[in-house]
Amino acid sequence: MVARYNPQQIDQKWQQKWAEDRLYEVTEDSPKPKYYALTMFAYTSGDFHIGHWYAMAPPDVQARFKRMQGYNVLHPMGFDAFGLPAENAAIKRGIHPYTWTMQNIDNMRRQLKSIGAIYDWSREVITCLPEYYKWTQWFFLKLYQHDLAYRGKAPVNWCPQCQTVLANEQVIGGGFCERCGTAVTRRDLEQWFFRITRYADELMQHEGIDWPERIKIMQKNWVGKSYGTEISFALDHPGADEREIRVFTTRPDTTFGVTFMVLAPEHPLVAKLTSPERRAEVEAYIAKSQRQSEIERLSTEREKDGVFIGAYVTNRLNGEKVPIWIADYVLLGYGTGAVMAVPAHDERDFAFARKYNLPIRVVIAPPCWPGGELEEAYIDEGVIVNSGQFDDLPSQQGIEAVTQYLEEKGWGRWAVSYKLRDWLISRQRYWGAPIPIVYCPDCGTVPVPEEDLPVLLPEDAEFRPTGESPLKYNQKFVNTSCPRCRGPAKRETDTMDTFMCSSWYFLRYTCPGLSTAAFDAQKLNYWMPVDLYTGGAEHAVMHLFYARFFIKALRDMGLVNFDEPFKRLFNQGIIVAEKQKMSKSRGNVITPDAYVSELGADAVRAYLMFIGPWEQGGEWDDSGLSGLSRWLNRVWRLVLEKYEQKIPDLVLRRMAGEQADKEIEKAQRALSRLSHQTIRKVTQDLERMRLNTMLAALMEFTNYLTKVKEAGSVTLPVWQKSIDTLLLLLAPTAPHLTEELWQRTGRDYSIHNQPWPSWDEELAQDEEITLVIQVNGKLRDRKTIPASTPTSEYVELAMESERILAYLKGRENVRPPICVPGTVNFVVR
Ligand SMILES: [Zn+2]
Ligand SMILES: [Zn+2]
Repeated sequence: MVARYNPQQIDQKWQQKWAEDRLYEVTEDSPKPKYYALTMFAYTSGDFHIGHWYAMAPPDVQARFKRMQGYNVLHPMGFDAFGLPAENAAIKRGIHPYTWTMQNIDNMRRQLKSIGAIYDWSREVITCLPEYYKWTQWFFLKLYQHDLAYRGKAPVNWCPQCQTVLANEQVIGGGFCERCGTAVTRRDLEQWFFRITRYADELMQHEGIDWPERIKIMQKNWVGKSYGTEISFALDHPGADEREIRVFTTRPDTTFGVTFMVLAPEHPLVAKLTSPERRAEVEAYIAKSQRQSEIERLSTEREKDGVFIGAYVTNRLNGEKVPIWIADYVLLGYGTGAVMAVPAHDERDFAFARKYNLPIRVVIAPPCWPGGELEEAYIDEGVIVNSGQFDDLPSQQGIEAVTQYLEEKGWGRWAVSYKLRDWLISRQRYWGAPIPIVYCPDCGTVPVPEEDLPVLLPEDAEFRPTGESPLKYNQKFVNTSCPRCRGPAKRETDTMDTFMCSSWYFLRYTCPGLSTAAFDAQKLNYWMPVDLYTGGAEHAVMHLFYARFFIKALRDMGLVNFDEPFKRLFNQGIIVAEKQKMSKSRGNVITPDAYVSELGADAVRAYLMFIGPWEQGGEWDDSGLSGLSRWLNRVWRLVLEKYEQKIPDLVLRRMAGEQADKEIEKAQRALSRLSHQTIRKVTQDLERMRLNTMLAALMEFTNYLTKVKEAGSVTLPVWQKSIDTLLLLLAPTAPHLTEELWQRTGRDYSIHNQPWPSWDEELAQDEEITLVIQVNGKLRDRKTIPASTPTSEYVELAMESERILAYLKGRENVRPPICVPGTVNFVVR
């Protein structure tokens, strides 16, 4: 009897040993090629649930595989520790965000260690520690020096009653102040931006990187580049110096169909242009729109409304007076904050015109249009009508002709428009890295000198949200001296968006703890770019976009020598429980700890990969986990229970006759074939992150080995070699179990330092047999097929033969074709 498989004991034993031996620590002086396997670091909001394991365990399997393949693998882990969720959780519990965050990190690190991953913990980064955010602040200064950081106005929530800025979560019930119930308005506040729009074009390009198509598309859409025409409408209004309002359109061919213009309610011209009799209504509308978030304003679900402001512009192409409206679906930050409305050819404008009885003029003829009113907007291209000299031109030519004409007249030009706006990084919150800027009454805005970094986040500050930056009330923090003139000055009191911390954390792993610089260029350029980055697809636009911007900016500053941070990106799916996404409110959160302590880390790791294709996710099911655990137990016994060759060895066999020799040879050839096929399958599946089919192949191999063992049909050395192969292939998935079995079968420590097995294409080739095809018992054709072809595929293969088809033509099957290994027989009349 062999000892029982005891994962609890084995997991702990090996985790300790690996840590003591620093088995997974890596350096830059290795002769092996480097491989940087990065998993999105963990947000420190609390406990890990099984979804985190799902994000962490499969990449560890891949990293271990690369390591055995002979790469110098960096697979680090750290904690994204600043930001609102941690701050809010701390507020709820009445403890300091630092205390709360560090407690979580201790717990999460313990949980992560129980995965048995190859994380090199000596490289851990924690973004809320001064030794890290000092460099986040340094990056801010670099961006500032290169004119990529600037101060500008951006709206915040404002309570006119309390006279204060409100955080988003202080705005309740769809737009009311949490404290006094007054309707919240928006107000512009000076905040810091990064000039990400300067990189808009480059950020749309994904050349040379292997990323999922849908992420690339999401990033392109986020940039939202469109080619079109800027058209100037003439303005002649007493009290306004402006002589024009410019709009951007991709359809200048419809300009004769403009029947009104819409401005964003916050457009600076609105106040100047509104007529006295319209003023009350306009102001009420503006106040209402200020209570809406941008998302609400842009929602396609919502019925659009607006008000006429009592002023007009002139459409220079036809000299018509066009009434000006305001509507909150137009945003000031996008384009020019003004749009020309062509109701006949735009769905939104059509609905708006119907609602307010504005004229709808057809200028692109729909196919077979009888000339009457439209039932709905016709948005496709067509032939231009009702447009003077441009009549009868197809849309495309019309776009060219109209724009050219506008250019000649000086009324417009070809233009490009982007949806992307600069990155607003100011947060009026406590739990973030302070922005390293000082305001001096004499010198103005002064960056904190590099040698004075970090600007420490004071621990004794009020951290509850006031909407305004809590640091404002910390006199010790606010009052400082000007780095330039040494006179009294005040610090910037906003903190930085945490997406700034996560835009460079992967650089810090290459030189953790370095106190003299953010990174060591030599080490950085050795490891970067990341070879494989894994994480959730929900980061398609924010994090993944900002990190690319960072690298491109650093490259232009001459600080890094590559263009893209992440060469290959892979997004995992989501683990659901009871058919729903796990959440604390639904009460369906699966926590890994209990499962791990019951069945061991390896069973949980394996089950997560077996649940379905990794990029698709799957449903957590306890019985599935037990199944995987049973399999690992079978592997345990298969390896440790004594192997007995039941057929005498070859020498004796020779005396017994040739027939027996052939039996052994056949069995060994079959086993060798499956071994090589399994190595090939597992290797290829690991490369492609097909982890579920990789495991299926290993299970099949286990089943086969079980049969071989029962039959005792191969020699002991052949048996042992097959067991070695099984253990090596299983090592990335079940690192603890395989290490234990490797040791117990007398192999050298550590299995994780062994080279990955290779396969021989020739030996992996399927043996071929002849398929005999009969019709009514008579041989009619032969076909060479792989020996492993299941009999269920015989009929289809036979029907590929012209000769057989000829025999079967016009006949009827009396009974289903009979398939036995090597033969198929059609019974027909
Ligand atoms: Zn209030
Ligand atoms: Zn000064």
